[in-house]
Amino acid sequence: MLKRFFNFISSHQPSKQSNLPLVIPRDQHNISRKNISPAAIKIIKQLDDAGFKAYLVGGGVRDLLLGNHPKDFDVATSATPEEVKRIFRGARIIGRRFQIVHVRIGREIIEVTTFRGHHDEGPTTTRSDEGMLLRDNVYGSIETDAVRRDFSVNALYYTLKDFSVLDYCNGLEDLKQRTLRMIGDPATRYKEDPVRMLRAVRFAAKLGFKIEVNTAKPISEMSSLLANISEARLFEEVLKLFLSGSATATFHLMREYDLFKQLFPGSDAALKAGDSLGAALIEQSMINTDKRLRAEKTVTPAFIYAAILWPALQKEQQLLSAKIPPQAAYLQAAQNVISQQLTRTSIPKRFLIPMREIWDLQHRLPSRQGLRALRLLDHARFRAAYDFLLMREDSGEDLQGLGSWWTAFQKANDDEREQMVENLGKQNSSSKPRRRGPRKPKSDSISKTE
Ligand code: ATP
Ligand code: MG
Repeated sequence: MLKRFFNFISSHQPSKQSNLPLVIPRDQHNISRKNISPAAIKIIKQLDDAGFKAYLVGGGVRDLLLGNHPKDFDVATSATPEEVKRIFRGARIIGRRFQIVHVRIGREIIEVTTFRGHHDEGPTTTRSDEGMLLRDNVYGSIETDAVRRDFSVNALYYTLKDFSVLDYCNGLEDLKQRTLRMIGDPATRYKEDPVRMLRAVRFAAKLGFKIEVNTAKPISEMSSLLANISEARLFEEVLKLFLSGSATATFHLMREYDLFKQLFPGSDAALKAGDSLGAALIEQSMINTDKRLRAEKTVTPAFIYAAILWPALQKEQQLLSAKIPPQAAYLQAAQNVISQQLTRTSIPKRFLIPMREIWDLQHRLPSRQGLRALRLLDHARFRAAYDFLLMREDSGEDLQGLGSWWTAFQKANDDEREQMVENLGKQNSSSKPRRRGPRKPKSDSISKTE
């Protein structure tokens, strides 16, 4: 079926000048209603019954055409947010910059957006000095909506009227060529919304697409515009970048386009200064995250942040160790790294606290004497901290077998555990794990988060 659709598009190119879309009829593409969320179908039908135009658009259409499972479905309509709200009881208008409506049907939430107009036209458009769109709620038609979307492959519309796909921006050809192409002038579009640069690497990584040369060119140079985006929005983007199953590829592209620096300046500086262990640790955390998601296991932003900021923490700690005692250096470094990070991306407390605990436990896991090992085993964050420890070893840090000791300790019975702890006392101090950072800090003071 995919082949049929690709054959179709190679022989049907729309005229570049016209506002008319390329129309792919039902029998020439592979989108089947049974793969679309019933909630999205219901919303489109109801909008249609109420006399409005409504289409499935965005990632849903793109992913279905590629034969992938869409993560969510977006609807574009001629109805204004207020009109959408009147039709659906479970509707909530959200957003300021772009108003969108979340329509809840059963357990599903579908994003419904009103066709965008040309933003030069309306009194409701506000721009910053740098050309960034601050508020933009000018409505338009499907034609104006299409060119306001980011990438051509995200601007394909599916209609339930005759089940055809409408293409205004040559998106089908780009889909065929596996190319991510910004609609319009890339530099202008990045200025309007710098987050589009992050979206470019995210989609390229997730879809395995190449970024078209003119779309790619301005990114490194313009990446610093991300400083104008709110910490809260960037946190949301970080989650999408690293929790969508393609974290490893995304991380590589972010470094290539100097986007990593904008979001994580401390760690970027450490990596650029040659911290190969740190780079390997982040990479390993991305590989593990992707693997866990493939196995449908849970992943937490706390763990990812702990790994991404680890190189920054190590660097800061080393600097401070020259001036203050190791334990104080660690505590101060953690505080500094966190405060610097919060100026770039927010980290909600529910992730920040466990992240700190994972770090703190890295300093406590080496001291296992007496009842300490048993107590550590009971710590709510033990499992995450143990995984983090193994990851440090996997990425090349020499912790002198500390990971295997903890693996064995967890499997051992009471007698064996007692023996293991006793054996520790017999080892001479030279066999203790070498640390890059502080010597054993006092555990209790360290486990507190500020
Ligand atoms: P995903 O699979 O991550 O959901 P998506 O393409 O559906 O990918 P969304 O963030 O859900 O991405 O956005 C839906 C659609 O809205 C996009 O496909 C795109 O057409 C449009 N869009 C989203 N964000 C922007 C943006 N910053 N600038 C322009 N268009 C955007
Ligand atoms: Mg989407």
